[in-house]
Amino acid sequence: MKITGIEAIPFSLPVRREFRWNGLLQGLGHFVLVRVTTDTGITGYGEAVPLPDWGGDFGRRAGETRETVRTIVESQIAPALTGRDPCNIAEAAAAMERVVVGHTYAKCAVEMALHDIWGKALGQPVYRLLGGEVRKRVQVAHMVGLMPHDDAIAEAEAAAADGIRALQIKGGENAERDVALVRALRARLGPDMLLRLDANQGYANSKTALAVLSRFATDELSFVEQPVCGLAHMAAVTGGTSIPVVADESCWTPRDALDLVEARAADCISIYLAKAGGLRAAGAVAAIAEAAGLACDVNGSIESGVGNAANVHFALSRPAVTLPAVIPVSAPKGKHPCRVGGAYFEDDIIVEAFPYEAGGIRPPEGPGLGITIDEHKLAAFRQ
Ligand SMILES: [Mg+2]
Repeated sequence: MKITGIEAIPFSLPVRREFRWNGLLQGLGHFVLVRVTTDTGITGYGEAVPLPDWGGDFGRRAGETRETVRTIVESQIAPALTGRDPCNIAEAAAAMERVVVGHTYAKCAVEMALHDIWGKALGQPVYRLLGGEVRKRVQVAHMVGLMPHDDAIAEAEAAAADGIRALQIKGGENAERDVALVRALRARLGPDMLLRLDANQGYANSKTALAVLSRFATDELSFVEQPVCGLAHMAAVTGGTSIPVVADESCWTPRDALDLVEARAADCISIYLAKAGGLRAAGAVAAIAEAAGLACDVNGSIESGVGNAANVHFALSRPAVTLPAVIPVSAPKGKHPCRVGGAYFEDDIIVEAFPYEAGGIRPPEGPGLGITIDEHKLAAFRQ
């Protein structure tokens, strides 16, 4: 089998409501679909959700946009991969590294599509190519964006009514607001709801972050995510609180994961396929975390059903991914199982909803990523 073409298609989905987090420049719902065609008629799909403001600690990574992803995929990667075997993913990944440094979102989208093709060629779901499933469902953490206190309470309660058992609460702009909101959510939702406060590097330094965390009673806050910027401050927070600390902006690649383990800068790692540059590199991050005894989640930038399928296949197959994931419950219009829980978009470009049960999801059954693209919807939403 040979790759005959690689195309990058920008599209947007309508959002259920506006979502915001500390530092976010643009709204959710803007994607690039990558379509890889082959000489056998098998077609694979991948996706990028690039964010121009998302650049790791101290801006050490570059933000990507839909325009940069499209340019890198079509001008650098497509010529390097056309004619190659799509199922030899290690070789394709090395070829991508040879023609452009960085641009992990663009590379991830292409590598995702190659996994889709490989699975379709073998008649196997991607999670089996990754070693098989170590869990039946991935628990969904619903994101409560930066919004007024009462709106956040209503959003969280609606998600809980949909069966969601974990919440990621965006904060970091105003510590008083963050403490009051988490305290109110714990009082209303009870001891079984997992509450994770994501400050997106918003607290000024480790002393500020530790002062905020010291105000929580035992078991009031379950996890704190990326309270500060940089490994030194993250290590000081991790060493100074009994609340587990999750690294997100501080950990992109396997090298970052090694540095983080060495610095004891977190208790958990939030893995994104795109930060690492694809399923294989994200697997290396998960392996490092597993060896170091750190728990992981699989997070992202709220993908459409295409990117989310890759997230879920990955999370099903990695032993270290034991934390609820901040991922959507993907479904096309009229088929969403929830009113609010995991519902970020009013529609999707996939045909079938992801099976949802007890606050967790699986990918649709089928070879590769298991998804089917609704071409009419793609035509309507493409830009
Ligand atoms: Mg985060």
